[in-house]
Amino acid sequence: MNIPAFTLDRQYSDIGSSIQEAVSNVIKSGQYVGGEEILKFQDSFASLIGVKYAIGCNSGTDALVLALRALDIGSGDEVITSSFSFFATAEAVSIVGAKPVFVDINPATYLIDIDRIESKITDKTKAIIPVHLFGNPIDMSKIQSIGKKYNLKIIEDCAQATCTTWQNQKVGSLGDVGCFSFFPTKNLGAAGDGGAVTTSNERLAQKIKELAVHGSPKRYSHTRIGYNSRLDAVQAAVLNVKIKSISKWIGARQRIAENYFNLIGKHKRIFLPKINSEFKNHSWNQFVLRLPNNIFSLQRSYAELFETDLHKNKSLRNLIQSRLAEKGINSIIYYPIPIHAQIAYQNIDINREDLIHTERVCTEVLSLPMFPEITYEEQQYIATSLNSILIEYSES
Ligand SMILES: *Cc1c(COP(=O)(O)O)cnc(C)c1O
Repeated sequence: MNIPAFTLDRQYSDIGSSIQEAVSNVIKSGQYVGGEEILKFQDSFASLIGVKYAIGCNSGTDALVLALRALDIGSGDEVITSSFSFFATAEAVSIVGAKPVFVDINPATYLIDIDRIESKITDKTKAIIPVHLFGNPIDMSKIQSIGKKYNLKIIEDCAQATCTTWQNQKVGSLGDVGCFSFFPTKNLGAAGDGGAVTTSNERLAQKIKELAVHGSPKRYSHTRIGYNSRLDAVQAAVLNVKIKSISKWIGARQRIAENYFNLIGKHKRIFLPKINSEFKNHSWNQFVLRLPNNIFSLQRSYAELFETDLHKNKSLRNLIQSRLAEKGINSIIYYPIPIHAQIAYQNIDINREDLIHTERVCTEVLSLPMFPEITYEEQQYIATSLNSILIEYSES
């Protein structure tokens, strides 16, 4: 067997012809920027998430930048977030001139450790960006109460969490704004880059809309320095087709996750992901397990820990990843390097001890193949292979 970590081939066999038709209609129409497809998608997406407004933009990264700008966050401000995320979460904060302040994660859920947030709040803190990483919902009730207590804005990073819910509400409707990505590997992916910002605040929605089009409330009038960050019509047309299948796909992801839980044996060398809520609230963009190792130590340099060529074949995770690959099972590491250890942030002042779980988890995580069309037989093969490899390592 050869099982990809992620593929769109099978989805294309299902709905490819509808996508082709939708794209070709846009091409024929000549309306490539703005227009009906965009308006239709923004309405459908707002109602999917349960907010009054959804504003399409160029990417999930831009969604974060637009949200920060709309909330007047910039130079001199601090924004609390997690260092165990895709780089863009912190990058957006730096792009607007503010400083990302990293709080450690809970190693079982991979989510920001809410109990550690308050100790990082200063006079300069303006916002929190909770990341619903891998589709696992953060406790938004607790985040909201911290926000209220310290008068902080809440920007949800929902890039991996389209259709994740917290207490029967979709994430992206629980903060001041929600930021979504339609990068092809996300739960709802376009045929290229795309993103959206969600909010129920009319004033914010208007400001985001203007910022996304050159700070322009009306044509050739510019009241702010903004961006050229629109969702284009072809992508909106693709998304209008794909949004019809979103509940089916999320249901499939949840079944697949459940199968992994049932098929992968209990083993002292493996930690399965902890759901931060009920099973059906998680949208399972990724199924990420943890394989603990002995190589991790704060005494080791970033280069020793995180540069794969240096620590290659030293960690159990890397050994198991290559053993799986030999059996035709492709897995991915999200994320091999914490954001604070990236060269781009080499001058940021952090205390590594404060981020020990983030650093350790980067040396342990492995994401198994996860896409709605994976078959039960493929999952059985993955689990059987993993179980037999792990038995070998427990004997040695
Ligand atoms: C993908 C992603 C982003 C950025 O989205 P793009 O559309 O790729 O710009 C931001 N945050 C997280 C957590 C992501 O996974």
